[in-house]
Amino acid sequence: MPHTSSVQIARALLADASRILVLTGAGISAESGVPTFRGPGGLWKSHRPETLATPEAFGRDPRLVWEWYAWRRALVSRCRPNAAHHALAALAHARDGVRIVTQNVDGLHGEAARERAVRDGTASVEPIELHGSLFRVRCTQCAHEYAHRAPVDASSPECLPTCARCGALLRPAVVWFGEALDPTLLDAAWRHARASAVCLVVGTSGVVQPAASLAEVTRAAGGAVIEINPDETPLTPIATVSLRGTAVELVPAVCPGG
Ligand code: NAD
Ligand code: ZN
Repeated sequence: MPHTSSVQIARALLADASRILVLTGAGISAESGVPTFRGPGGLWKSHRPETLATPEAFGRDPRLVWEWYAWRRALVSRCRPNAAHHALAALAHARDGVRIVTQNVDGLHGEAARERAVRDGTASVEPIELHGSLFRVRCTQCAHEYAHRAPVDASSPECLPTCARCGALLRPAVVWFGEALDPTLLDAAWRHARASAVCLVVGTSGVVQPAASLAEVTRAAGGAVIEINPDETPLTPIATVSLRGTAVELVPAVCPGG
């Protein structure tokens, strides 16, 4: 656990900020049981994620890529939002000007937001999911995109899920390595980063662009950066406050009202 004074400084920065951008990565969901790509359990059948989460891998062997996504979807379906997701959902519901931008595709911020909205009797404040969702699919032909939570059978190419509209092969609606992010989402995140007094970065290795640049955008515009991560990252040098520890230990501790 970091020194209490750094926790207090982070908490005071967040309490005073009229606008906050929260940028999260795989580390925030690690304590919910979702493996990170770069930590233990990140490999699947000895494949590296960088070789599976690409359009080329899907073009070569859609069955293999779907088998990996079927495994990830089944794993994530058993996971629940943790205290860090809940503390951030509470902050975003309590205060205007707080935006959660996530690189995660596990849907856990959205679940925490909907639980909070039910508890408060308000509308849900949804996160910006920059890299899409494991539980959405997109048609490889007509580009129709929709929610899809049913288990996927990837035992043979003939079993793979097909489009409800045109019958062509579906793919996960996630942004793969080498693909562009949705420009509307990216623009919204960028504008919020520029206008924020604080960027709170939780559980991201800071190596996947352009998401990692959001913290730099806030810093360059004169805002503060608070980093929560058990390890140093490439974002550590620009952090105003770096807190070494886990998301569940530290996020509720720095969230005003938490
Ligand atoms: P990453 O796997 O590269 O890095 C995870 C980071 O989390 C590391 O810096 C690690 O030190 C930190 N971390 C580990 N345990 C933590 C904890 N308990 N609390 C706080 N931090 C902890 O993840 P990334 O930076 O998000 O980039 C990887 C890419 O992979 C992203 O594009 C993301 O979409 C995808 N991904 C998503 C999920 C998910 O949806 N949960 C899981 C794995 C990968
Ligand atoms: Zn279609």
